[in-house]
Order: sequence, then structure tokens, then C-alpha cells
Amino acid sequence: MRLDITTLPGDGVGPEVTREAVRVLRTVLDLYGYEVSFEEHAVGGVAIRQFGAPLPEATARACMESHAVLLGAVGGPEFDSLPPGQRPEAGLLGLRQALGGFANLRPAIAYSAIADCSPLRPDILKGVDILIVRELLGGIYFGEPRGFSASPGPAASNTMRYSEAEIERVAHVAFRQARMRHRKVTSVDKANVLETSQLWRQTVTRVAREYPEIRLDHMYVDACAMRLITHPGSFDVIVTENLFGDILSDEAAVISGSLGMLASATIGGKVDLYEPVHGSAPDIAGRGIANPLGAIASAALLLRHSTGLEQGAQDVEDAIREVLDKGYRTADLSPQQGESGQRGRAKRVVSTTEMGALVESAVADVVDRRRAYHAV
Ligand code: NAD
Repeated sequence: MRLDITTLPGDGVGPEVTREAVRVLRTVLDLYGYEVSFEEHAVGGVAIRQFGAPLPEATARACMESHAVLLGAVGGPEFDSLPPGQRPEAGLLGLRQALGGFANLRPAIAYSAIADCSPLRPDILKGVDILIVRELLGGIYFGEPRGFSASPGPAASNTMRYSEAEIERVAHVAFRQARMRHRKVTSVDKANVLETSQLWRQTVTRVAREYPEIRLDHMYVDACAMRLITHPGSFDVIVTENLFGDILSDEAAVISGSLGMLASATIGGKVDLYEPVHGSAPDIAGRGIANPLGAIASAALLLRHSTGLEQGAQDVEDAIREVLDKGYRTADLSPQQGESGQRGRAKRVVSTTEMGALVESAVADVVDRRRAYHAV
């Protein structure tokens, strides 16, 4: 049981949060008897400074040869004037393409202890735990032809295209995930208007026959956008195409209360990629106040999808919940103003490293307690 993980801390708060994710991952894998090696490489702005390119050859090679890749974030204001192909973000796009993951998984979880950090009412958020599965390599972002034209007047066009095979493979990911959750898939499309959505709906319906234990419903994207805010608790797994998934997954972020809480996994390619949803946060970089929980939750996804350690993933998620339940917060987790003033108050604001250490210690406790329980 040996695992080779490439870490790409990147820029800004990337190294700060990745350090804490690695710390937790190392502890869990050790508890489960894994031998793990972490090899760090440069990507993004740091790679431009060191090697003159946002995705050096050595970085790409190391990623392709590892079992999984854990990334922090890339980007920073000093690179904003570079042409798009030379900017830090080009390194990340190149990496995603090389790894080839077609399914982007984004959990949106409402932790009850920090429900007061979300603009949504606590009763709406109660028990919300959604997994958005977004198709990542097809649709309008990649379709050809695309571009600008000048005659008869300035115009621009993009092409939304999906093949049956592209829809099938991401639908299978969604149904398999639903099997391990609450056995419900909501497929989101715009089948009343778009042919790509009609094919999407037909294909997902056909794939669903292979999963008779899963409940499938279909929803138009406009209705889904509204329902995510009014009744988020009615969703389990949402599967949708690239553009709709991009928008809905950002919308669902309000459920978790802070950008710093959000994790993601990109799976289905040669090597899977795990990264928090947030960027390099240059406004707070170097101050030791970044929230590492999104990065740590991404490490939990790595355990789930790249090692099959479902129990280990749940241990990390339980540890995050425990630490929040005890009242520990990073600075971003501040209560929203309610109609009658603050609905709650953070009990103790901790630094990035303190939060990492708290989760590490909580995960060891969670595993110990479970093992003691099963030994009795
Ligand atoms: P951002 O996610 O970096 O920051 C948005 C806001 O959220 C900021 O106020 C920031 O302080 C806060 N924030 C982000 N992560 C946080 C954390 N872990 N803890 C506490 N607060 C956190 O987005 P931005 O400001 O639009 O972009 C900054 C840079 O990051 C840009 O160069 C952008 O291109 C890049 N970016 C990279 C990625 C990525 O690497 N995947 C994603 C988005 C943006």
C-alpha cells in the first residue's frame, strides 16, 4: 500500500493551505498503514519565476507518474499583464488538459456549526449535503466553430456540442456516487430549448436503467438555480453539463458559508486532481489567516477517489465537523448580520496552521474512538 502524491502548492495562500492538507493526509494514511511519498513541484507564478513557464516539463511529468495530484492555487497580480498563454492560470489549464479528468466533483455541505456564516436561513440549510458532478471537457467551452466575425457587422459565436459517449461517462460517475450517498440523481439541462440537452436527457435516462436503486429526476437549469437556494435540502447528486455546472456550483457555494470551505476533485482521466475551489487570495497571502478547510476537504476527496479509503475520507470530514462544532474558526468564517444583529459569534479565531493542527488531532481522535468502539 504505497502512494505517490505530487503536491503543487502554487501561489499566494496555496502553499499555506496545502501544507495543512498534507499534514492531515499524512496522518490519516499513516493510521491506515499506507506508505506515502509527497513530491512537491512548481506550477503557476512560482514556476514562471523559477523556470520561466507556468507548467514546467518536470512538473507535468511528475504529475503523470503519480497516483494523485494535490494543488493549492495559482495566480497573482504581478502576472496580470502577461499574455493569457503565459499567465499562471495557463499552467493550471494545461495541467487539467494533460491529466484528462472529465468529471468535476464539488461537494456543497452546510456545516451546522457555521450556518450563521451563510446568507441563507439556518432552517433552509439544515442537513444540506449536495454533490455537484459537472462535465468538464465538453460543451460550449470547447465546441467548434467558435470566434468573431465582422461581416455584415460584428458578431461572435460559440458551439455547444455533446456526444452520447461524453454524456454516458459522466452520468455513470454521478450514479456511482449516488449509490454511496442518498441514492438520488438530479440531471440538469435545458431540454425545452437545446438539442444538446435533449440528447443529455435521453442518455442519462438510458444510463439510469443500469442503476435501478437510484431515483432519477430531471430539472431545467433555471428551475434548479432557484431550487438550490430555496430548497437545497431536496438535492443529493446533481449531474450537469459544463456551462450549467460552472454556474450552479458557484451558486451552491453560498451553502457552505465561505469560499475557503470548498473542495473539488477532477476525476476520470489518467491521474486525478484535487484542489480547493478558491484562488490564491493575494489580499490575505502570507498573513497566516487563510482557511485551510477547503484544501483539507480536498484531501478527503483524494482518499475517497484515489485510494478507495472511504472510511479515511469520512474520518477527515468528521474531524472538520468536530473542530467547527467546538467553535474554532478562521477569520473568513464570520457570522452574517441577521435582521436583529449578529446571529452568532465565533468562539475562537485561529490561524491557518492552528486549524490544520486541530483537524490533524481531531482525525486521530476520530479514528481512535472508532477503533476502540469496534474492539469492545
Ligand atoms: P480568490 O479565490 O483568490 O479570492 C476571493 C476572496 O476570497 C478574497 O477576498 C480572498 O481573500 C478570499 N479567500 C479565498 N480563499 C480563501 C481562504 N482559503 N481563506 C480565506 N479567505 C479566502 O479569487 P480572486 O481574488 O478572484 O483571484 C485571486 C487570484 O487567484 C487571481 O490571480 C485568479 O486568477 C486566481 N485564481 C486561481 C484559481 C485556482 O488556482 N484554481 C481559482 C480562482 C482564482
